[in-house]
Amino acid sequence: MAISAGVNWLRVWRLKLPAKIRNFIWRILSNCLPTMTTLRRRRVDVLEWCPICRQEPEIDLHALVLCPTIRGVWSLTSLGSYMGSTNSFIDWWNNLVSSNDSTDIKIAAAVLWSIWLNRNDVVWNGKHKPQMRELNSVPKHNYDTYWRKPPPHFLKCNVDAAIFNDPPRMGFGCLVRDEHGSVVAASHGCIFGISDPTLAKALSIREALSWLKELNLSNLIVESDALLVIQALKNKASDISSLDLIVEDCKSLVSDLHSCSFVFVRRSANQAVHLLARAVGSMKNNAFSDKLALLF
Ligand SMILES: [Zn+2]
Repeated sequence: MAISAGVNWLRVWRLKLPAKIRNFIWRILSNCLPTMTTLRRRRVDVLEWCPICRQEPEIDLHALVLCPTIRGVWSLTSLGSYMGSTNSFIDWWNNLVSSNDSTDIKIAAAVLWSIWLNRNDVVWNGKHKPQMRELNSVPKHNYDTYWRKPPPHFLKCNVDAAIFNDPPRMGFGCLVRDEHGSVVAASHGCIFGISDPTLAKALSIREALSWLKELNLSNLIVESDALLVIQALKNKASDISSLDLIVEDCKSLVSDLHSCSFVFVRRSANQAVHLLARAVGSMKNNAFSDKLALLF
């Protein structure tokens, strides 16, 4: 059994977790998880493809983090922010451990365990349980209820919109903060004729992405409390086809940005930018504005 270098094993063993989950984490970090590619290496006659999405070979990072279905699970937690920043599970884990407290690490371990149990049910019992149900076994405070700093070398852009009547309009705001929590850029504006909250949230994200592209920023985590919009941007099934064009615009803008991921957070974790959007929209005389402030 190959023991992986660069893993803080003491931290793993000190986690106050059920022994079966701690052992499971140890198995992954020791490259012993019996994924399809591992089984094939051991000359077991199985297909190497991921049994969930059937799009890529099943390695541990794919099975537990990057599989499109699994990303949906992580996106509902505060821990899915590092998706595009690594190409090995050990790097992903080390990043997680260095950027989070032990409560979040334990939650991550429990989520990983649930994901693997669900995957085994699919492979060995032919069951296709909805992944979201797995989160029911995870503590509810798993969702971000307060704002968190992005991991090292990342910028976090919070986006929000607020709706106003008489005349119908939306205010929007974007705040970019660095790994120390300092605001490095901010943008806000008001668009008249918008009265649908979901449309407003989608438009605010498009405005933010367009602005981030102008600033030529990279390694971005875009956070919003608009679950349906974030799911649509992550390619998950959504019933907001009326937003298809905006979502497509957003995806096109993302393709021009270097490393950009989307995360859903509760409104309480998006409070600062929510207040900014409300303040901007409440000014009736704020004819279409596109104010942009760079605070570097
Ligand atoms: Zn997959």
